[in-house]
Amino acid sequence: MLQADVLVVGSGGAGMYAAIAAARAGASVLLIDRSLIGRGGATVMAQMTVAVAVGEEEPDHWEHHLADTLRAGRGLCDPALSQLLCEDGPACIREMDEWGIGWARRDGHMAQVHAPGHDRKRCVYVDFLNTGPAVSKTLRARVQRITEIRRVGDLVVHELAIQDGACVGAHAVHLPTGNSVPIAAKATIIATGGLTRLYARNSASVNMGGDGYALALRAGAELIDMEFVQFFPIGHLAPRLVGMDPIMWDPFRYKLGGRLLNSEMREFLPEEGRYLSARDVATYGILKEVAAGRGSPHGGAWLSFQHCSEAVLREAFGPVIDRLAANGIDLTREPIEVGPMAHYHMGGVRVDTDMRTSVPQLFAAGEAVGGANGANRLSGNAITEAVTFGRRAGERAAALAARLAMRSAFPAARLSAPRPQINPAAEIVRLQALMNEHVGPLRSKRGLELALREMGDMPADLPAPRAGLDPEWMDLHDLRNMRQVAGCVARAALARDESRGAHQREDFPETSEAWQRHQVIRQ
Ligand SMILES: Cc1cc2nc3c(=O)[nH]c(=O)nc-3n(C[C@H](O)[C@H](O)[C@H](O)COP(=O)(O)OP(=O)(O)OC[C@H]3O[C@@H](n4cnc5c(N)ncnc54)[C@H](O)[C@@H]3O)c2cc1C
Repeated sequence: MLQADVLVVGSGGAGMYAAIAAARAGASVLLIDRSLIGRGGATVMAQMTVAVAVGEEEPDHWEHHLADTLRAGRGLCDPALSQLLCEDGPACIREMDEWGIGWARRDGHMAQVHAPGHDRKRCVYVDFLNTGPAVSKTLRARVQRITEIRRVGDLVVHELAIQDGACVGAHAVHLPTGNSVPIAAKATIIATGGLTRLYARNSASVNMGGDGYALALRAGAELIDMEFVQFFPIGHLAPRLVGMDPIMWDPFRYKLGGRLLNSEMREFLPEEGRYLSARDVATYGILKEVAAGRGSPHGGAWLSFQHCSEAVLREAFGPVIDRLAANGIDLTREPIEVGPMAHYHMGGVRVDTDMRTSVPQLFAAGEAVGGANGANRLSGNAITEAVTFGRRAGERAAALAARLAMRSAFPAARLSAPRPQINPAAEIVRLQALMNEHVGPLRSKRGLELALREMGDMPADLPAPRAGLDPEWMDLHDLRNMRQVAGCVARAALARDESRGAHQREDFPETSEAWQRHQVIRQ
């Protein structure tokens, strides 16, 4: 059995910051991940910007950032959580600066750019498209230096351990051997990221099937606003692009006025040649063109930079232009294909500003948490959310652990169900297609009901993994969680008969004042 004061499940920006903060507060920490530490989730993939009111480019204050965040959230932000994100953001970003992250600088100060939805230049970044990798590398290096943090990769948590209603750790499986690994902890932090793998078109890694939501739900915690999935309008569709962030086109489109064209090579967004549309507006604009038969061959739109000279492109893209060339992409000669893809989840585990869930001794942090971004997230807010919420969760979990003794009783893992006679990998693909088609950016009662009917259920318990690497067990594990979480998203979307932010109902296109309220799911 593994044991620590604080168990952190997931080692993205939220998990690593939580581990650092908990160790700093005197706790022994176990930081685990189903993948390699610090390389498994969204943080390491994010290549663009981090929104934070450091006011280095022009005067700013966290209250201005908060006002923009609340506006973007269309009336559904939890204002206390949004405030935490905006108020604590500068300290975390400056701390990472001291740790050598290398935020881009201009004339000696941190460079900040203007992103859609922000009222001023607020987003810091690491050149060129290196923001997430730099966040991840900086935190990894920090974590490695702290002896109180023990790191274990290749451990997938399949169940939280609940004793007398409180979380006393977790049950994990060591993927290469199939061994069961019980983990006892006085406090546990879910930092498992989001759910965008539920969709056929996503910008996610395979680890983002919503494990944390399913774990929390089964443990008795509450989920909030699960219907709000953000689709990124211009995710890369074609030609094949290897080793790069599928949403990388956004800052370049913004900077260079990249033109979004339909199959008739006509612009269709009312933008006057510049990228001004919010994410949801651009997403629906593209989908409407596709529905009208004017989409690009892969079901999106064309993005063209052909109005820019090679010199202009080279200056804007820097070394990225050579990475594109290595992928056979020459922007002076041809447009690329882009389209909406699932990118981020605004909903998630319900927490208070101490990152406590409704289950004693269970905390959550990062994208796993719902509420800070309401019905729509501002660009750059997600990494800020990960590090600020991670830091807060680590501090509070350590403080709680210091007051508790380790419990002697530990519940047994439930891994004795018979193996279902299904092909779980094929079922995952079917579920992803269903979610994309009916629970995507445009929804209707008919489609949502159909999706719920077709989704299928999974037994409550998992079978035991076979000795050695057992990919079928991994798929069963993922399918169980993905189905459970997909059901939450679809049910919440069906109940919300209005359109708001990232949730757009074709049969209820108006925003309803009566619906300015949260939906909470508990098992
Ligand atoms: C391609 C891409 C680009 C993005 N660009 C930006 C950007 O420019 N700016 C911005 O602000 N945001 C961006 N985002 C969003 C942002 O990166 C994420 O919201 C944020 O990094 C989430 O951090 P996290 O620590 O909560 O989760 P993650 O970084 O996703 O980490 C979660 C970790 O949990 C692990 N895990 C999951 N389930 C289990 C389990 N059962 N057991 C053990 N471990 C588990 C995973 O392996 C993973 O390592 C982007 C996202 C993507 C996908």
